[in-house]
Amino acid sequence: MSEDAARGVISRFAPSTTGEAHPGTLLAALLVWLDARSRSGRVELRLEDLDVTRARAAWADQMIGACDWLGIGWDDVVVQSDRRAAHEAALDALAAAGRLYPCACSRAARTGGRRAPDGSWAYDNTCRGRELPAGGWRASGDAIRVRLDDDRIELVDDGGLDLSQTPARDMGDPIVRRRDGVVAYQLAVVVDDRDQAISDVIRGRDIAPSTATQVMLQRLLGAPTPRYRHHFLLLERRSREVQDGERERGALEPTRGDKLAKLHGSIPFSELRARHDGPGLCGILAHAAGLSAAPSPCTPGELVSGFDWRRVPAADRVAHWTERGLVID
Ligand SMILES: [Zn+2]
Repeated sequence: MSEDAARGVISRFAPSTTGEAHPGTLLAALLVWLDARSRSGRVELRLEDLDVTRARAAWADQMIGACDWLGIGWDDVVVQSDRRAAHEAALDALAAAGRLYPCACSRAARTGGRRAPDGSWAYDNTCRGRELPAGGWRASGDAIRVRLDDDRIELVDDGGLDLSQTPARDMGDPIVRRRDGVVAYQLAVVVDDRDQAISDVIRGRDIAPSTATQVMLQRLLGAPTPRYRHHFLLLERRSREVQDGERERGALEPTRGDKLAKLHGSIPFSELRARHDGPGLCGILAHAAGLSAAPSPCTPGELVSGFDWRRVPAADRVAHWTERGLVID
């Protein structure tokens, strides 16, 4: 047994089920799975379905099916909406510690203010002085934020990415329960990682800027900090019209003027499956991830023994949909 296995690697792939699986989610699944399996670790699939306004059960089922089709099996499947009691208990604990406050500030009020490291507008902790209503956080119709300590978090991930921040200032106190009652991502991810004893978090680099906030929440909840690694993303070229539409829906902050954006649903699993088979797509993803010399068919299992993060490129790659199917530059 290796040293890592002796310590017990427990990892997770945690996609949101707010859209179809696509090459970017399947690449992330493959990297999480290979990292865990190459260290004799366990790995679970966590379906992030808390956003009731956007998540769909059909997409959760499709995610399970897509991973299976690709050749990836999980030791456990956790549905995040089943974890409501644990999330509420964490909110109660934070409330008991005097950490929660209601915030009625609009998104528009922050616009034009200070940029956060993730490109959004930072929150200036404007409402820190406000009290929860007599009935507590459950009785509030506002968003609920948690008052973080103002300390700096010094953190470099396993890939050498510097995640150091003073999250209370750089990002602002996070929303932990949305105005519509949904428990927010930042809290749910910390509670679930704690309760599922996650030792290693492998995920896309787009989430890296929120790591310091999550570490601060771990400290407030007495949870250990897992090891982190953030990998490259698949990007796509976006037309100006698509970008404008996403901004209107609030899905894309108007940061830089680049025409490249993180791949979302433009190459959906339904199209991928019509054009490729599992080993075919696995080969394309493995080649893009530096794990095979050519984009020729293979299975995830065949990649385990040769898996090494030193082979995986740091730079993002661009995905195209052509008459030959998926091509990754
Ligand atoms: Zn506020």
